[in-house]
Amino acid sequence: MFNKLKQEYSVCMRCPSLCESRSQVVFGSGNQNAEVLFIGEAPGSNEDKKGIPFCGMSGKILDELLSSVGLIREQIFITNTILCHPDKNRNPSKQEVENCRERLDHVVRIMQPKVIVTIGNFATERILGKTAIKTIRGKLFSININGEEIKVIPIVHPASYLYSGRNPELFALMKADFKTIANIVNFNK
Ligand code: URA
Repeated sequence: MFNKLKQEYSVCMRCPSLCESRSQVVFGSGNQNAEVLFIGEAPGSNEDKKGIPFCGMSGKILDELLSSVGLIREQIFITNTILCHPDKNRNPSKQEVENCRERLDHVVRIMQPKVIVTIGNFATERILGKTAIKTIRGKLFSININGEEIKVIPIVHPASYLYSGRNPELFALMKADFKTIANIVNFNK
């Protein structure tokens, strides 16, 4: 199912500006049968080159956080709020997020994850309709998709940690949020 969807979106032309700035559509990577779906913002330039989400500096931080609770990428699936790299890493526009809505909904419906982790404000707003990530990070929410309850945990984007100059206090909070994620995944087994 994912392969068909991936193929379909590899030629998506819904966002004229993103069609210009992307070199490829970065659909997602990891285990499509995973219980946990991570959703970031948009592919950066490294991701655009390699076709893999979170394969640059933010990805290194994400890997560190995953490994701090014994998780590896093969145990999760990662995608983004929008699938194409915006020029100069600008924020995705509201219209671009809307244009990618059906695709992300489709991914969630196919995967039926137990937990969605929204990385940063864009993914959190997209899934929960809420921003203010610093206030709601690490809290547990739930959404209902096709009668199934899916838990949602917003986390701070690794890029914010990098922008903070690698603030150790922020990193401690981020690690605590990964403990929450790991506990929920185990709890659901
Ligand atoms: N930041 C994101 O939000 N997504 C990526 O894939 C890489 C960096």
